Amino acid sequence: MIRVGVLALQGDFAEHATALRRAGAEVSEVRLPRDLAGLQGLIIPGGESTTIARLMIIYDLLEPVQALARRGFPIWGTCAGAIMLARHAIGLDRPNLGVMDMTVRRNAFGSQIDSFEIDLPVHGLHAPFHAVFIRAPVIESTGPDVEVTAALPDGRIVAARQGNLLATAFHPELTGDQRLHELFVSIAEGQAPAGAK
Ligand code: GLN
Repeated sequence: MIRVGVLALQGDFAEHATALRRAGAEVSEVRLPRDLAGLQGLIIPGGESTTIARLMIIYDLLEPVQALARRGFPIWGTCAGAIMLARHAIGLDRPNLGVMDMTVRRNAFGSQIDSFEIDLPVHGLHAPFHAVFIRAPVIESTGPDVEVTAALPDGRIVAARQGNLLATAFHPELTGDQRLHELFVSIAEGQAPAGAK
């Protein structure tokens, strides 16, 4: 059976774990570098990117996760997780992973509508996905190797993929719709387990 990790430092990692199990994966919570061994994919959940970044630095997780990303290891960042993946994270005051060629702006949707929901067409899914945005970032620009996989009706980018790196500005783990978790599990299935550190 496939084993996927969920970074469990802060944020809604428990909801991702539930969604991954429903999508057919075994799940490990990742808090230390050694927890990465044996995984075939990793989800970085939503939460507070400043806190997640601070804890990844404290627990020496930035470098091993960067190294995995550079080797093509599947990593999916949702909301704060997407901010962690971005090469440029506007509004983040500390180092992040910086492995995905895109610029992300934190809290891009203003206080009056800082949370909203919308049925969103997403590349790779046949029917729209009910997307929940909570103080979400927006993907302001993407590099040449990054495919835009979802945008709002006004054109703002809210999901992207660069090889095995996925970013969504919304929270698929909160809707009970497993399709994006199934997609990620199918990507991770082709991955050899990460080695012990
Ligand atoms: N606003 C948060 C941040 O900048 C992200 C919110 C979320 O993950 N739902 O980190």
